[in-house]
Amino acid sequence: MRVAKNKVISIEYTLTDPQGKELDSSRGGNPFAYVHGIGNIIPGLEAALEGKLQGDQINAVIPPENGYGTRDETLVQHLDRSQFDTEDDIQVGMQFHAMSESGPRVVTVVSVDMDKVTIDGNHPLAGITLHFDVVVKEIRDATGEELSHGHVHGPDDHHHH
Ligand code: ZN
Repeated sequence: MRVAKNKVISIEYTLTDPQGKELDSSRGGNPFAYVHGIGNIIPGLEAALEGKLQGDQINAVIPPENGYGTRDETLVQHLDRSQFDTEDDIQVGMQFHAMSESGPRVVTVVSVDMDKVTIDGNHPLAGITLHFDVVVKEIRDATGEELSHGHVHGPDDHHHH
């Protein structure tokens, strides 16, 4: 069986940036499972895995346009601290849900000073060329329920939504 649309693919992966810094990895946990061909994962990785076999190992270099997008500097905003409706300390790395012209989006606090907070609405991996090291662990047909939900169910999943 090959990696193709509507198959459930389990992969082990390590993601690094162009400087070799590890950004994410499935090592030490379960393989990551997704439904192929329906946009569960970034387009560049989906394309790199297409047609592969169980046991295949791939190294994919994915530019931002096929990853998490290019950066949009208009999504970086400097706000008055008083605009934050929270009693908690606002710290670098905190994430908030905010409304934007294109709908709800997650913004990350990138700097804080006495009275200004700088937030960034870009995906944390936007603008980064991604280096994926991937091993295909398992390929199976998706169930009808998985296809109608658009995501993978584990062996103990009996949810209804
Ligand atoms: Zn489901």
